[in-house]
Amino acid sequence: MNNCSKHFVVGGMQPLTMIDFPGKLATVLFAQGCNLRCRFCYNQSLLPAASSETLGWQAIIEFLRDRQGFVEGVVFSGGEPCMQPALLSALAEVKELGFATALHTNGYYPDIVHKALQNKLLDSIAVDVKGDLSNYKAITGSTADNKLFSDLIAGIVASGIEHEFRTTVHKKIVSEAEILQIARWLSASGVKKYVLQKFQFGQALDVRLEASAGIGLTESSIIKIRDMFSHFEVRGDQGLGSNYLKKAA
Ligand code: SF4
Repeated sequence: MNNCSKHFVVGGMQPLTMIDFPGKLATVLFAQGCNLRCRFCYNQSLLPAASSETLGWQAIIEFLRDRQGFVEGVVFSGGEPCMQPALLSALAEVKELGFATALHTNGYYPDIVHKALQNKLLDSIAVDVKGDLSNYKAITGSTADNKLFSDLIAGIVASGIEHEFRTTVHKKIVSEAEILQIARWLSASGVKKYVLQKFQFGQALDVRLEASAGIGLTESSIIKIRDMFSHFEVRGDQGLGSNYLKKAA
């Protein structure tokens, strides 16, 4: 199976999650294939366009049919779902079955996202911002186009869809100053929710990245970022006091 398939090619599935689709019990479908090679990526089996481990689309549809009325949403994650021409038809098929849909994307395919939004195929979207756009080549192996990203953000904000933008934090990849800059840019663009997530040590593409105890930002920066958004979250940093994350009443 490969990404030219007329069906959406799924490299893995998480049957049930309560954390990947805000407020919904959901199934996650991991798209096979990704255009990037992020240094911190831990989904290495999903990166090649082809794999012998993919799941058949009809089997997935049957799985979802069996869970209608129980599972509320389906998350299209990856890999990079927007690389696949069959994404839009897969979203439509899942929606017809009565599920809410969410998309996790690296932001390189704004046209696909715009089409999905125009056709009301999405209920929620999460976009990775890997770092300062000028550093993308070093982080992901590919350059990033400022205008395409800005258009993508504008389209998402204008659609009014539930959204989150998120950055994986490791001091060797993105500095505190860059995170503040990214947060200012997103906030000024109208983004409502920003998430910082701790680097997951163990299976990263770049084996030189060492484990980190937390996201490593100063309290002052965390408070500044928190105050730029209506919703702000830090994921995976157990040591971070929840007081930082609460806005003063
Ligand atoms: S972390 Fe990067 S390389 Fe890995 S799946 Fe996501 S976008 Fe692709």
